[in-house]
Amino acid sequence: MAIAIMACRKLIGKCSGTGCLKAYNNCKVAFEIYKDNKPPLASFFYCKGCKETKGTDEDWDHKITQLKNNNVDTVHLALCINVECDEYEKHEEMLKGEGFKVIRGSH
Ligand code: SF4
Repeated sequence: MAIAIMACRKLIGKCSGTGCLKAYNNCKVAFEIYKDNKPPLASFFYCKGCKETKGTDEDWDHKITQLKNNNVDTVHLALCINVECDEYEKHEEMLKGEGFKVIRGSH
């Protein structure tokens, strides 16, 4: 099975994802749980969006299907969602509703 990281779209313009990927590569912070058996990181993707960030060309169901087709069973909610978002629990419940295990945090 594989994991994915979901990040906040508010940071698209300035975040390169390096903090999350460094933590994953080094099995640090939220990824320390994988230090003895690291699953592949199959995706770094952005959330479903909110009124501030949602675009017009959207296909969330396709994104979820891509994750499932690539064996993602666990989604980490990146630090930026915790910092930026008022709807943290909503994201968590939505992903759980899609059958994913959700882990809070990245780096
Ligand atoms: S604030 Fe929340 S809903 Fe809006 S882009 Fe960030 S994570 Fe997504």
